[in-house]
Amino acid sequence: MSKALDVRDLTVAYGQIAAVRGASFTVEPGEIATIIGANGAGKTTILNALCGLRDVRAGTVTLGGEDITHLPPHERVRHGLAQVPEGRRLFGRMSVAENLEIGGYARSDHAAQKHDLDHVLELFPRLRERYRQLAGTLSGGEQQMVAMGRALMAKPRVLLLDEPTMGLAPQIVDLVLDAVRRVNREGVTVLLVEQNAYGALEIADRAFVLESGEITLTGHGLELINHERVRSAYLGHEA
Ligand code: ATP
Repeated sequence: MSKALDVRDLTVAYGQIAAVRGASFTVEPGEIATIIGANGAGKTTILNALCGLRDVRAGTVTLGGEDITHLPPHERVRHGLAQVPEGRRLFGRMSVAENLEIGGYARSDHAAQKHDLDHVLELFPRLRERYRQLAGTLSGGEQQMVAMGRALMAKPRVLLLDEPTMGLAPQIVDLVLDAVRRVNREGVTVLLVEQNAYGALEIADRAFVLESGEITLTGHGLELINHERVRSAYLGHEA
C-alpha cells in the first residue's frame, strides 16, 4: 500500500535562510505521527509546506502515492489533505455551523456533506450544543473542536494539526488529544505538531524529533518518551 504521506529531502527557506533542511519522513495509513521540536525548529514551516502555503525549495511531498509537491492548497484539499492551523483561525463572528460549512467548501457531494456534518457533531457533541453560537465566544477547547470539525468537513485522508493544545488548560489538553485519537480511530491518518511533547508522544505510533530543520531522531512515541535525549531536551519535569 502507498504511504499516506511521504516526504523526501524537504528543504524550505525564507530568503537565504533554510528553516527546513533536507527533512525526510513517512507516515503510514492509519497512523498518528508527531513531529516534536523546540520553538523555531521548523515544525510549522513543514506543515505549511505540506499543505501548500509555503513553496518547497527542494524535495518532494507524496500523498497516497501522488506527487503533490507543487499543487496549490485547494487541490491538496481535494486530494485528501486538510490542516488545522496554529491558533485555530476560526471566523470568530460566524457561528459554529457556518465555520463547519466552510470546511466543506471544496466539495460538490452535498448529500454526503450533510452526513459528515452529523458525524462531526457526533464526534464533538459539545458543538451541537453550541451550534448557533458565534465561534469567537467559545472556550479555547471548544474552538479547537470547531477547527478540527471544520477540517474534517473536507473529508481528509490525512489531517495535519499544528499545536492543537497550545494555550489550553491541562484537562482540556487531554480532551483535545482524546479527540485526535477518536478522529484517528475513524480512519483518518494524523500528523500532529506539538510543543507539548509528552502528550503527543503518548498517542503517537511514530514520532520525529526536529532540530534546526533536520530530523534527528525517529521512533515509536513511547520509545521516544523513554529516550534519554528526548527526556532531557523536551520532557523536562513531565517525564
Ligand atoms: P514554533 O513552535 O515557535 O511555532 P516551529 O518549530 O513551528 O516553532 P517555524 O515557525 O517553522 O518553527 O520556524 C522555523 C524557523 O523559520 C525559525 O527560525 C523562524 O524564525 C523562521 N521563520 C518562520 N517564519 C518565517 C518567516 N515568515 N520569515 C522568516 N523566517 C521565518
